[in-house]
Amino acid sequence: MSMNGNGTSAPDAADGRDVFDISIIGAGPTGLFAAFYAGLRGARVQVIDSLEEPGGALTAIYPEKYIYDVIGYPKILAKDFVAACMSQALRSDPTIRLKEEVTGLARAEDGVFVLTTSKGERYSKSVVICAGVGAFEPKRIEAPGVAEMEGRGVHYFAKRVEDFRDKEVVIVGGGDSAVDWAVTLEPVARKVTLIHRSKFRAHEATVQELERSTVDLHFPGCEVLEVHPSEEGRVHGVTFKNTAGEPQRVAAQDLIVAIGFVADLGPLKSWGFELQRNQIIVDKITMETNVPGVFAAGDIVAYPAKFKLIATGAAEAVTAVNHAVRFYDPSQRLDPGHSTTIMEKRAKEAAKEEAARVAAN
Ligand SMILES: Cc1cc2nc3c(=O)[nH]c(=O)nc-3n(C[C@H](O)[C@H](O)[C@H](O)COP(=O)(O)OP(=O)(O)OC[C@H]3O[C@@H](n4cnc5c(N)ncnc54)[C@H](O)[C@@H]3O)c2cc1C
Repeated sequence: MSMNGNGTSAPDAADGRDVFDISIIGAGPTGLFAAFYAGLRGARVQVIDSLEEPGGALTAIYPEKYIYDVIGYPKILAKDFVAACMSQALRSDPTIRLKEEVTGLARAEDGVFVLTTSKGERYSKSVVICAGVGAFEPKRIEAPGVAEMEGRGVHYFAKRVEDFRDKEVVIVGGGDSAVDWAVTLEPVARKVTLIHRSKFRAHEATVQELERSTVDLHFPGCEVLEVHPSEEGRVHGVTFKNTAGEPQRVAAQDLIVAIGFVADLGPLKSWGFELQRNQIIVDKITMETNVPGVFAAGDIVAYPAKFKLIATGAAEAVTAVNHAVRFYDPSQRLDPGHSTTIMEKRAKEAAKEEAARVAAN
């Protein structure tokens, strides 16, 4: 997915490159807050994440857990917090590129950063790395038909409940995500079948809800053997190994695989950063890495007495972005002041422009 933001400064189109002011690697809570804050500073921003959904660890590891220590929320579900972060980030109209991994980072002769990604090249005047523990990828299953039908009925991220209305759905997994989807879809789908290799690891209350539901449960020792296509090449049926060890086929139009994620710091290790146990060493004052113009924030950074928390990541994002702005435009102030004042000023300017436009017509 790519959501195109308008940004505030024009792209450097002289040689056809679309050069952003700040590129943020990672759309976890730190990257999303960095995107919002960069927009507050008037920067033209792009955010790139390997995952299909924003939220980083909160989406990949604990969407159904409550968080108690983020400012302003006495208690909030991780997935709801991600939605709030996303809506705050979108105020700044960033370009958000999901399902895109950054594999390389280099600097061109004219000083522009070139980010090589799984989808091509992206250009930027500065970079803020908010990459957590590395690029998240869903764990995939290998069985005939699965890879061929990814996006054609095979999902590693289920999004809208309505997409499954009146469908026959097979879900694979036994953690929070799989069990939550099973109980959520049960009243909507025509039939839900849940297949799992071992015992359920989801919250006890959700597992009890699952056991009371009409979801067709197959565990332990059950796994997908083959996905069968329809004439149009979409999922039409699933054969799995049942508890008796026998192949069993069910009709299905959708297969949701929710067996977790793996994180890979891989490519980032070769970008020339000083590393300390898989974290990038930064200057604690500026959040700059040893590569000038490249800043970092959140779980990826290392400095003395670093806390790996959402709150500290947000504070580091502010520092990183303010210094990134000064990097590509030294005429700008390091400290822009308060959001209250910045937004009031913007609202007044917009009202003035609107009044002038109306007067001119
Ligand atoms: C089970 C659990 C419970 C937690 N509970 C709390 C809590 O209660 N309170 C709290 O404050 N913290 C909690 N944390 C910690 C918190 O989740 C982290 O501090 C936070 O997620 C860090 O955010 P981040 O944006 O820096 O990194 P992440 O959330 O890890 O996001 C990094 C993002 O960068 C992307 N990325 C990385 N490399 C690349 C690349 N090369 N190309 C493209 N994309 C890339 C990844 O896909 C990922 O989406 C918890 C953590 C866990 C695991």
